[in-house]
Amino acid sequence: RLYNEVIELKGNIRVFCRCRPLNQNEITSGSTSIVDFDSSQDNELQVICSDSSKKQFKFDHVFRPEDNQEAVFAQTKPIVTSVLDGYNVCIFAYGQTGTGKTFTMEGTPENRGVNYRTLEELFRISDERGGIMRYELFVSMLEVYNEKIRDLLIDNSNQPAKKLEIKQAAEGTQEVPGLVEAHVFSTEDVWELMKSGSRARSVGSTNANELSSRSHCLLRVTVKGENLINGQKIRSHLWLVDLAGSERVGRIEVEGERLKESQFINKSLSALGDVIYALASKTAHIPYRNSKLTHMLQSSLGGDCKTLMFVQISPNSADLGETLCSLNFASRVR
Ligand code: ADP
Ligand code: MG
Repeated sequence: RLYNEVIELKGNIRVFCRCRPLNQNEITSGSTSIVDFDSSQDNELQVICSDSSKKQFKFDHVFRPEDNQEAVFAQTKPIVTSVLDGYNVCIFAYGQTGTGKTFTMEGTPENRGVNYRTLEELFRISDERGGIMRYELFVSMLEVYNEKIRDLLIDNSNQPAKKLEIKQAAEGTQEVPGLVEAHVFSTEDVWELMKSGSRARSVGSTNANELSSRSHCLLRVTVKGENLINGQKIRSHLWLVDLAGSERVGRIEVEGERLKESQFINKSLSALGDVIYALASKTAHIPYRNSKLTHMLQSSLGGDCKTLMFVQISPNSADLGETLCSLNFASRVR
């Protein structure tokens, strides 16, 4: 390939599970953890069900409540950095609202997540390879809400949001014409963009957190690279996706706007599950067209693309039902 030190990856589809710690409220109210870990295995967990039976799940890696952002990134790094070797890569955070999807991907200023650490590492490696490769990095940020795509790097505050469409481009690749691609030169540039993108997410909603749990947020890194010795060029995409909350909406709330929203979320999350399952089981027909999300990501899912799904779970007994749903969803795609 392009660079002589291509990072070896085991398979193309991987699933990591991450269990958040019990939070202060849960501890105060006397909640206990229903998730157990085997001290000698870093790839399995057990869920204690309400009848005290235990259900075991295995993934490529399981992160425990005490595992920090560094530990998570250490396992994620080889996958994300393969974009510099010309691979297309998709990383998803899946799970119920409040389980740490945004914490894993975006993180906080003190505990930065996969997105920021990834860009930091891409800049570092691109410097390191400077004598052999020339890289340019571009960042886009967009949101999919109710099957509508919105650019988060455009200031939409004074005008109705411009709707973006997916266009079929040459040789089976998808483009989103008009999407802002910001040329970035440093991690500071990226951090500023991510902050402004996050602010744009909440425009027009009374409750930013609530809206963010019902839309998918996608950060796209486009890498253009050229081998200075043989002139070979690459253009590849890395998608870092904070998915909408996977929880089933309670019956009482389900009417009007909320009903429509939850139908769109169910549809796109199950479309994503179907695509990854079809890829994992090597089915001939991959149903990309069933949602905006999978259609847009089509050329970054499948083939020799790398896919990583974080299934995020809560250890709280009150969340047992959703936890089992998420673990079952993730087991199916693995
Ligand atoms: P989601 O995006 O899935 O709705 P968040 O990322 O917003 O969930 O997480 C909910 C809360 O839990 C946040 O306050 C977040 O900082 C905290 N949190 C999530 N995961 C962890 C973790 N592994 N360690 C510490 N705090 C966490
Ligand atoms: Mg979130």
